Amino acid sequence: MRWMGGRGGGGVEDRRGMGGGTLAGGGIGAIAIALIGYFVFGIDPFTTEQIVSQIGGTGVQEEGKRGTPEDQAGRFVDVVGANINDVWSAKIDGYEPPRVVLYEQGTRTGCGFGQSAMGPFYCPNDETIYLDLGFWRDMETRLGASGADFARAYVIAHEFGHHVQSLTGTTTKVAQAQARARNAAEANRYSVAMELQADCYAGVWARGAAAASNGEVALEAGDLEEGLKTANAIGDDTLQRKSAGQVAPERFTHGTSAQRVEWLKRGYESGDPARCDTFAGF
Ligand SMILES: [Zn+2]
Repeated sequence: MRWMGGRGGGGVEDRRGMGGGTLAGGGIGAIAIALIGYFVFGIDPFTTEQIVSQIGGTGVQEEGKRGTPEDQAGRFVDVVGANINDVWSAKIDGYEPPRVVLYEQGTRTGCGFGQSAMGPFYCPNDETIYLDLGFWRDMETRLGASGADFARAYVIAHEFGHHVQSLTGTTTKVAQAQARARNAAEANRYSVAMELQADCYAGVWARGAAAASNGEVALEAGDLEEGLKTANAIGDDTLQRKSAGQVAPERFTHGTSAQRVEWLKRGYESGDPARCDTFAGF
């Protein structure tokens, strides 16, 4: 993926190295792969609050440093994020960028205490994306996802997709529908539709990236395949098979590997968010 010459947005809040607090005995190593599997790519925004308060954690949080981080990984997030904002600004009236926070291990969020084992996530309460960059390494080593830049950008763009859902009112509508759901399986189907739409939106971004940056941020040969490989690695069925040895579709929250691949592709091929109607079957 080409990105080095891209414009930085300068809007990243860097809390890395600030010691936001960790779990007792904590760190990502203490968390079973099942939990990572459940949370991978951002936990369901409606249970965020509940889950993080269960996980607990304290720690005084200071404001992080705002701007464009100087290290390569931080700069990557800033440049890719700025490009994602440029793409969405052209597609949605009144688009406002989310905040982006980089942290390590744990940090305070508008949805309670964030923990790196939850994976990257978007908190609708404070319209902020929380990223622990160590998660990328974990995705690659433990989940068999791709380590390519575009695979990482897909993770970021997926979270921006949740921000778009928040701006368009989808998040609120789905939360209401979930509150009316008769059982957990039905509520989970809404979660799957939300997550697949965020995948599709990631594809929409990828399609528009080059045009929005005069080619400074662009996919290169083989990049899409790396993204699809990642989407395939983090499907609910694949993760459940890996962690529990069996598959329970009623507990799916993000969609199967095949679905995640299909919707990322659909967003990329169309470049049109209107084609991301994962709720059509409801
Ligand atoms: Zn998500």
